[in-house]
Amino acid sequence: MDRDLERVLLTEREIHEGLERVARRLVADYEHDEPCLVACLRGSLVFVSDLIRRMPIPLRVDFLHASSYGASATSSGKVELRLVPDAEEVCGRRVLLVDDILDSGRTLAAAQQKLVALGAGDLRTCVFLEKRVQRAVDVRVDYRCFEIGDEFVVGYGLDFAGRYRNLPYLAALRPEAAARAGRPA
Ligand code: 5GP
Ligand code: MG
Repeated sequence: MDRDLERVLLTEREIHEGLERVARRLVADYEHDEPCLVACLRGSLVFVSDLIRRMPIPLRVDFLHASSYGASATSSGKVELRLVPDAEEVCGRRVLLVDDILDSGRTLAAAQQKLVALGAGDLRTCVFLEKRVQRAVDVRVDYRCFEIGDEFVVGYGLDFAGRYRNLPYLAALRPEAAARAGRPA
Protein backbone atom coordinates (compact mmCIF):
# COMPACT_ATOMS: atom_id res chain seq x y z
CA MET A 1 0.00 0.00 0.00
CA ASP A 2 1.15 3.56 -0.70
CA ARG A 3 2.98 5.02 2.33
CA ASP A 4 0.61 8.01 2.46
CA LEU A 5 -2.32 5.71 3.14
CA GLU A 6 -3.05 4.85 6.76
CA ARG A 7 -5.36 1.83 6.44
CA VAL A 8 -7.99 0.18 4.29
CA LEU A 9 -11.49 1.16 5.38
CA LEU A 10 -13.50 -0.87 2.86
CA THR A 11 -12.17 -3.74 0.80
CA GLU A 12 -13.20 -4.25 -2.82
CA ARG A 13 -15.47 -7.07 -1.71
CA GLU A 14 -17.16 -5.03 1.04
CA ILE A 15 -17.73 -2.21 -1.43
CA HIS A 16 -19.41 -4.53 -3.89
CA GLU A 17 -21.67 -5.98 -1.19
CA GLY A 18 -22.79 -2.46 -0.25
CA LEU A 19 -23.45 -1.70 -3.89
CA GLU A 20 -25.55 -4.83 -4.35
CA ARG A 21 -27.71 -3.83 -1.37
CA VAL A 22 -28.41 -0.36 -2.70
CA ALA A 23 -28.82 -1.48 -6.32
CA ARG A 24 -31.54 -3.96 -5.27
CA ARG A 25 -33.50 -1.13 -3.62
CA LEU A 26 -33.02 1.15 -6.61
CA VAL A 27 -34.21 -1.51 -9.05
CA ALA A 28 -37.34 -2.06 -6.96
CA ASP A 29 -38.01 1.68 -6.69
CA TYR A 30 -37.31 2.65 -10.30
CA GLU A 31 -37.98 -0.36 -12.53
CA HIS A 32 -40.99 1.16 -14.30
CA ASP A 33 -39.79 4.75 -14.64
CA GLU A 34 -36.64 4.93 -16.78
CA PRO A 35 -34.91 7.32 -14.35
CA CYS A 36 -32.05 9.62 -15.26
CA LEU A 37 -29.04 9.09 -13.00
CA VAL A 38 -27.09 12.32 -12.75
CA ALA A 39 -23.57 11.56 -11.53
CA CYS A 40 -21.34 14.21 -9.98
CA LEU A 41 -17.94 14.31 -11.63
CA ARG A 42 -15.31 13.45 -10.98
CA GLY A 43 -15.56 11.56 -7.69
CA SER A 44 -18.60 9.40 -8.50
CA LEU A 45 -17.28 8.03 -11.77
CA VAL A 46 -16.32 4.61 -10.41
CA PHE A 47 -19.37 4.36 -8.16
CA VAL A 48 -21.91 5.20 -10.86
CA SER A 49 -20.37 2.85 -13.40
CA ASP A 50 -20.43 -0.06 -10.94
CA LEU A 51 -23.94 0.88 -9.79
CA ILE A 52 -25.60 0.99 -13.22
CA ARG A 53 -24.19 -2.42 -14.10
CA ARG A 54 -26.15 -3.79 -11.15
CA MET A 55 -29.38 -2.13 -12.32
CA PRO A 56 -30.83 -4.20 -15.18
CA ILE A 57 -33.69 -1.77 -15.87
CA PRO A 58 -34.18 1.01 -18.46
CA LEU A 59 -32.28 4.07 -17.27
CA ARG A 60 -30.36 7.07 -18.55
CA VAL A 61 -27.11 8.61 -17.34
CA ASP A 62 -26.02 12.22 -17.34
CA PHE A 63 -23.36 14.22 -15.53
CA LEU A 64 -22.88 17.27 -13.43
CA HIS A 65 -19.49 18.67 -12.55
CA ALA A 66 -19.35 20.29 -9.14
CA SER A 67 -16.10 21.33 -7.59
CA SER A 68 -15.37 22.69 -4.16
CA TYR A 69 -12.09 21.23 -2.98
CA GLY A 70 -9.28 22.01 -5.40
CA ALA A 71 -6.10 20.30 -4.17
CA SER A 72 -7.08 20.59 -0.53
CA ALA A 73 -8.36 18.07 1.99
CA THR A 74 -10.71 20.61 3.52
CA SER A 75 -13.66 22.21 1.79
CA SER A 76 -13.22 25.71 0.41
CA GLY A 77 -16.89 26.28 1.16
CA LYS A 78 -17.64 27.39 -2.39
CA VAL A 79 -19.32 25.13 -4.92
CA GLU A 80 -18.91 25.79 -8.59
CA LEU A 81 -21.19 23.98 -11.06
CA ARG A 82 -19.15 23.70 -14.25
CA LEU A 83 -21.32 21.29 -16.20
CA VAL A 84 -25.00 20.51 -15.80
CA PRO A 85 -27.37 18.22 -17.77
CA ASP A 86 -29.51 19.62 -20.58
CA ALA A 87 -32.97 20.48 -19.29
CA GLU A 88 -34.55 17.98 -21.78
CA GLU A 89 -32.71 15.14 -20.08
CA VAL A 90 -34.15 15.78 -16.63
CA CYS A 91 -37.30 17.84 -17.11
CA GLY A 92 -40.33 15.93 -15.86
CA ARG A 93 -38.31 12.75 -15.39
CA ARG A 94 -37.50 10.90 -12.15
CA VAL A 95 -33.94 11.94 -11.38
CA LEU A 96 -31.45 10.21 -9.11
CA LEU A 97 -28.51 12.39 -8.15
CA VAL A 98 -25.43 10.23 -7.52
CA ASP A 99 -22.34 11.37 -5.63
CA ASP A 100 -19.30 9.87 -4.00
CA ILE A 101 -19.57 11.37 -0.52
CA LEU A 102 -21.76 13.59 1.61
CA ASP A 103 -19.56 15.75 3.82
CA SER A 104 -20.54 19.35 4.55
CA GLY A 105 -23.58 18.96 2.29
CA ARG A 106 -22.75 22.01 0.18
CA THR A 107 -22.11 20.13 -3.06
CA LEU A 108 -25.28 18.07 -2.94
CA ALA A 109 -27.38 21.05 -1.87
CA ALA A 110 -26.13 23.06 -4.86
CA ALA A 111 -26.64 20.11 -7.23
CA GLN A 112 -30.15 19.43 -5.93
CA GLN A 113 -31.09 23.07 -6.29
CA LYS A 114 -29.86 23.12 -9.88
CA LEU A 115 -31.73 19.93 -10.85
CA VAL A 116 -34.96 21.25 -9.36
CA ALA A 117 -34.46 24.48 -11.33
CA LEU A 118 -34.04 22.36 -14.49
CA GLY A 119 -37.44 20.79 -13.81
CA ALA A 120 -36.49 17.38 -12.42
CA GLY A 121 -39.56 15.50 -11.20
CA ASP A 122 -39.16 13.40 -8.03
CA LEU A 123 -35.53 14.13 -7.27
CA ARG A 124 -33.77 11.65 -5.00
CA THR A 125 -30.14 11.38 -3.95
CA CYS A 126 -27.80 8.39 -3.68
CA VAL A 127 -24.31 8.52 -2.17
CA PHE A 128 -21.56 5.97 -1.86
CA LEU A 129 -20.43 7.39 1.50
CA GLU A 130 -21.97 9.53 4.18
CA LYS A 131 -19.56 11.14 6.63
CA ARG A 132 -20.64 11.33 10.25
CA VAL A 133 -19.99 15.05 10.72
CA GLN A 134 -21.83 18.23 11.52
CA ARG A 135 -23.19 19.44 8.16
CA ALA A 136 -22.91 23.05 7.01
CA VAL A 137 -26.11 22.52 5.02
CA ASP A 138 -28.97 20.17 5.78
CA VAL A 139 -29.32 17.73 2.87
CA ARG A 140 -31.63 14.78 2.43
CA VAL A 141 -30.05 11.58 1.13
CA ASP A 142 -32.36 8.73 0.13
CA TYR A 143 -29.86 5.92 -0.54
CA ARG A 144 -26.36 5.42 0.83
CA CYS A 145 -23.96 2.49 0.71
CA PHE A 146 -21.81 3.21 3.78
CA GLU A 147 -21.40 5.60 6.67
CA ILE A 148 -17.85 6.56 7.74
CA GLY A 149 -16.27 8.68 10.46
CA ASP A 150 -14.70 12.10 10.06
CA GLU A 151 -11.48 11.35 8.20
CA PHE A 152 -10.20 12.03 4.71
CA VAL A 153 -10.63 9.01 2.46
CA VAL A 154 -9.35 8.12 -1.00
CA GLY A 155 -9.84 5.40 -3.57
CA TYR A 156 -12.83 4.03 -5.46
CA GLY A 157 -13.11 7.32 -7.39
CA LEU A 158 -12.15 9.65 -4.54
CA ASP A 159 -8.91 11.58 -4.93
CA PHE A 160 -6.43 13.57 -2.99
CA ALA A 161 -4.86 16.27 -5.19
CA GLY A 162 -5.87 14.22 -8.25
CA ARG A 163 -4.37 10.92 -7.11
CA TYR A 164 -5.74 7.58 -5.84
CA ARG A 165 -9.03 7.54 -7.80
CA ASN A 166 -8.04 4.22 -9.36
CA LEU A 167 -7.64 2.28 -6.10
CA PRO A 168 -10.24 -0.52 -6.07
CA TYR A 169 -10.65 -0.14 -2.28
CA LEU A 170 -11.30 2.78 0.09
CA ALA A 171 -8.45 3.95 2.34
CA ALA A 172 -7.86 6.66 4.91
CA LEU A 173 -5.18 9.19 3.98
CA ARG A 174 -2.50 9.78 6.63
CA PRO A 175 -3.07 13.21 8.23
CA GLU A 176 0.68 13.90 7.73
CA ALA A 177 0.27 13.33 4.00
CA ALA A 178 -2.42 15.96 3.78
CA ALA A 179 -0.30 18.30 5.92
CA ARG A 180 2.75 17.77 3.69
CA ALA A 181 0.65 19.00 0.78
CA GLY A 182 0.34 22.23 2.78
CA ARG A 183 -3.15 21.72 4.10
CA PRO A 184 -4.68 20.20 7.22
CA ALA A 185 -6.63 16.95 6.79
P1 5GP B 1 -19.37 18.60 0.64
O1 5GP B 1 -19.80 19.65 -0.34
O2 5GP B 1 -20.48 17.68 1.10
O3 5GP B 1 -18.56 19.14 1.78
O4 5GP B 1 -18.29 17.71 -0.07
C1 5GP B 1 -18.58 16.91 -1.09
C2 5GP B 1 -17.38 16.73 -1.97
O5 5GP B 1 -16.14 16.94 -1.28
C3 5GP B 1 -17.35 15.32 -2.43
O6 5GP B 1 -18.06 15.16 -3.63
C4 5GP B 1 -15.87 15.05 -2.57
O7 5GP B 1 -15.44 15.43 -3.84
C5 5GP B 1 -15.22 15.94 -1.55
N1 5GP B 1 -14.90 15.23 -0.30
C6 5GP B 1 -15.49 15.34 0.91
N2 5GP B 1 -14.92 14.53 1.82
C7 5GP B 1 -13.95 13.86 1.15
C8 5GP B 1 -13.01 12.83 1.54
O8 5GP B 1 -12.94 12.34 2.67
N3 5GP B 1 -12.17 12.41 0.56
C9 5GP B 1 -12.20 12.89 -0.72
N4 5GP B 1 -11.32 12.39 -1.58
N5 5GP B 1 -13.07 13.84 -1.11
C10 5GP B 1 -13.94 14.31 -0.18
MG1 MG C 1 -16.91 15.24 -5.60
